[in-house]
Amino acid sequence: MNNITVSSQFISDNFLQAIKDGHVHAFFQPVIRTMTGRICNVEALARWEDPKHGMIAPMELINELEKADLIYELDMEILRQTCLFYNELKDRGTPIHSFSVNLSRHDFKQEDLFDRISGILKEHSVSPDAINLEITESDMLDDADTFHKLFVQFTDAGFSFWIDDFGSGYSSLNMLKNYRFDVLKFDLQFLQDFSLKNRQILAPMTSMAKSLGIHTVAEGVEYQEQYDFLRSIGCEALQGFLFSRPLSKADFLEYLKQHPGIIEPEQEKEYWNKAGNLDLLSATPLESFNDDPLSENVKETESFIEAPLAIIEIGNNRVTHIYASNEYLKNIRELGYPSLEKLERAYNERISDQYLILKRMIMNTIGKDTVQVVDYIRNNIYYNVRSRCLALLQDKAIVAVQLTIFETENKTKTTDEIMRYSGALFATYEMAIIIHPKENYSERVFSRMGIQSYATMGGLRETVDIFIRNEVDERDQERYRAFLDLDTLEERVAKEGFIQNFFRMKSSGDWKSIRISKIPSDTESLYLYTIQSILKEENDRMNEYLLDHPDL
Ligand code: C2E
Ligand code: MG
Ligand code: MG
Repeated sequence: MNNITVSSQFISDNFLQAIKDGHVHAFFQPVIRTMTGRICNVEALARWEDPKHGMIAPMELINELEKADLIYELDMEILRQTCLFYNELKDRGTPIHSFSVNLSRHDFKQEDLFDRISGILKEHSVSPDAINLEITESDMLDDADTFHKLFVQFTDAGFSFWIDDFGSGYSSLNMLKNYRFDVLKFDLQFLQDFSLKNRQILAPMTSMAKSLGIHTVAEGVEYQEQYDFLRSIGCEALQGFLFSRPLSKADFLEYLKQHPGIIEPEQEKEYWNKAGNLDLLSATPLESFNDDPLSENVKETESFIEAPLAIIEIGNNRVTHIYASNEYLKNIRELGYPSLEKLERAYNERISDQYLILKRMIMNTIGKDTVQVVDYIRNNIYYNVRSRCLALLQDKAIVAVQLTIFETENKTKTTDEIMRYSGALFATYEMAIIIHPKENYSERVFSRMGIQSYATMGGLRETVDIFIRNEVDERDQERYRAFLDLDTLEERVAKEGFIQNFFRMKSSGDWKSIRISKIPSDTESLYLYTIQSILKEENDRMNEYLLDHPDL
């Protein structure tokens, strides 16, 4: 039935009689638990079906009733019908443990609000923890003192408050600070405009709610991709046309019949609520898990960890740290640098070749939009450095560097040994990659060349293409392409077990020895691809040789 518009006069004149005549109904919309797909709550929404005029548009109805000071009567009527339905479902053997009703800001001006609501519940023997009260931010604006008193009175009696339309008003964050809400319902508009921006707002809001022990519901879920996104950020419950429109009582019963087993049993409510508190977006989801959401004090433990991150400025070929996180300082200490100053000296005064390589990588990121990655082994510690240019100004640049150490947790003799030999491997080659031709991908074992990771979704051929374009000197690109020709690779490698040739790279202009060898494997043909620098004399010899053999 289409919603119709009637005059405000019609609404205020006929509303109370319409209740008496049974034309005002609660419609019911299921709220679905994201993790299980079962109903964890049902929202009651008001509908006035006039026999002559048809269904009166709900938003208009609410607005007019608020103006005419009749909204309180509507809300109490919807609450009464909700209690009746709650009991009816119980009697039918299909109990639903939670319902929510909407309250208007005007209700909080009614002196008997608490008594009337408790009275309706008592009359129908419904416990306050079965009925959640949805309120919006504006509800608490009018008279903060009265609101506060009522809030305490209701929560002490066992009611829960849900914030409706969260994010649509002005004071959302203040409300969270001042009151203990059970659930936060994201405003419909975030999904109606399912833009990247709105997704970027929803994700941290979900995290924030969890860190405060507040559950999250998204309303207005209409499409599978919204569902998938909300599941991925850990939003706990979903409401919307994707699952069901608000239904009349009869249609709702039919819906339950069509979906046997869809109701979440009451004893599982707390169980799933607890699991829902896991913050999927936290860097330390296990540590920051807040298992007692109703505890008065928000957990003291920080729900985030610092990344081992530094921000570095480069100018005049010198490196200066602008910022270093504690994790970063800890990691550089493990590498043998007691302070940032010591590390900067290593960078700026060429104390070790390793840092020259590192510095070259950092220099290499300047002006590029990619993340450069380098692996190292130092003092038997395997570490990985990633960097990215943040900003450029004339001859200066700001670069972020992340330095991660891979712990060998149970240091045994074997791992020491492995570390030592991988150290040797590491010293020999600048980069090692495993090629899986059958599975069409390549896997970086390590790289200390300071080049980005080239593995792409497009598979091996695309990876090779991009690598050639970005890294191989123009003069050698064609030869390199033939060398890496995947169609003939197997055949060529089979002859001697490996193929090898020399190519110049863009980054340094030096010659590199590139070798592809077959890795013994029963199941699949695997190849080890390595890049090795050659000695300076050899490098010069190569250049001389090239002068004599320009057609190499
Ligand atoms: P609300 O409490 O935020 O209710 C959700 C609204 O979103 C409902 O509109 C519902 O029909 C609609 N909705 C649910 N799923 C979807 C979806 O997937 N897509 C879209 N586009 N919409 C969806 P409805 O029933 O028209 O109610 C509008 C508003 O009127 C409610 O917003 C609530 O603020 C108010 N309201 C409804 N019933 C009552 C009531 O009994 N008392 C009071 N005070 N306000 C009520
Ligand atoms: Mg609502
Ligand atoms: Mg809403």
